[in-house]
Amino acid sequence: MTIPANDPALRSWVPVPEGSDFPIQNLPLGVGAWNGVAAVPLTRIGDRALDLSVLAEAGLLNGLGLAREAFDAPALNPLMAAGKAGVRALRQRLSELLRHDNPVLRDDNTLRDAALVAADQVSMHLPVVVGDYTDFYSSRQHAYNVGCMFRDPANALLPNWLHLPVGYHGRASSIVVSGTPIRRPMGQYKTAPDAPPVFGASRQLDMELEVAFITFKGKALGERIGTGEAEDRILGLVLFNDWSARDIQAWEYVPLGPFLGKNFGSSVSPWVVLLDALEPFRTASPEQDPPVLPYLRQQGAHHFDIALEAAIATGDGRETVISRTNFKHQYWSMAQQLAHHTVNGCNVRCGDLMASGTISGEAPESYGSLLELTWKGTRPLKLHDGTERRFLEDGDTLVMRGHAGHGAVRVGFGEVRGTVLPALPYL
Ligand code: CA
Repeated sequence: MTIPANDPALRSWVPVPEGSDFPIQNLPLGVGAWNGVAAVPLTRIGDRALDLSVLAEAGLLNGLGLAREAFDAPALNPLMAAGKAGVRALRQRLSELLRHDNPVLRDDNTLRDAALVAADQVSMHLPVVVGDYTDFYSSRQHAYNVGCMFRDPANALLPNWLHLPVGYHGRASSIVVSGTPIRRPMGQYKTAPDAPPVFGASRQLDMELEVAFITFKGKALGERIGTGEAEDRILGLVLFNDWSARDIQAWEYVPLGPFLGKNFGSSVSPWVVLLDALEPFRTASPEQDPPVLPYLRQQGAHHFDIALEAAIATGDGRETVISRTNFKHQYWSMAQQLAHHTVNGCNVRCGDLMASGTISGEAPESYGSLLELTWKGTRPLKLHDGTERRFLEDGDTLVMRGHAGHGAVRVGFGEVRGTVLPALPYL
């Protein structure tokens, strides 16, 4: 009997610890390697990773419209070629294979032992080959805060902000998977408004707490994707830390926007939580005033209730949570972002990544960047060891986590982390 993969009553024969981000209702996709074996597509359940190439070799993933070779690929892009329908069928099949009452994999010791591996034994890779990366700026509180700091509260939101999802094209080459260290960038910045610029290691290294979506192949160049069909073009979501050097950014950004202050690294969580798995956590989109232009109108709920947090871990490994926020604190939905991105005929490709922009809630402890949390460094944060932070220091590890739901079914992302390395000496 087919039971929908989101059914809260489902349980698996694989033990899932209480509070795990990865119950049978999640089944995210990722790519990883262990024991010297080449990286392959995986799913995750509880504390185990499940090797999809083993299941495919055993014929358990036949009949889904997915190419056999896609399960041996070191990225999810070939699997994504089958589009939303293919990935949805795959998740449903995985749900059935992992159901507590399905003996096919559960009772086949050889196959089960070949396919299931402890997740902490797996070296996770970037889940997709990212073609293009776009960064939006869709949290009203974040845009307001930054406007207050760099302009004035009366004109904090620029005139276009309530009419279109502001964004810019970022750099795909420097997107890295969780665990990859980030080297403090060097660059030009000013130390005082009237002083000439200097060259040196950034003194204002920051995080940006974001969620990013990954696209299936869109439409042909010249065509557009409407808000009503946009979510069919989205595979799923990852946590996204868009590392930023505020001093470099402040000096360089006029008039064309972010450049070297942003493109030295962005970190993603390794498991792509499918949009289908987040369906139960849909929540109302905010009322938009002034009304948006017709091409940005949307019917129904297009926001998702995903609790997010950021923490700084110092050298001793102990963490201090510095922000708790929620993905629902977005003014523009992903559907509106994708519709806007393509309204001029811009084509999106399989594996493009689009980030939300820093997600800040209304409460000061829910701001999604150190720039806001310390208000440009004027209100330092105290960490567990008594030290203070205005911005990130060498050796700090920034950790972000996120999950939807609580109680019966919790669908989570795991984490994205990265440690700050000292700047490379300039000789
Ligand atoms: Ca950003």
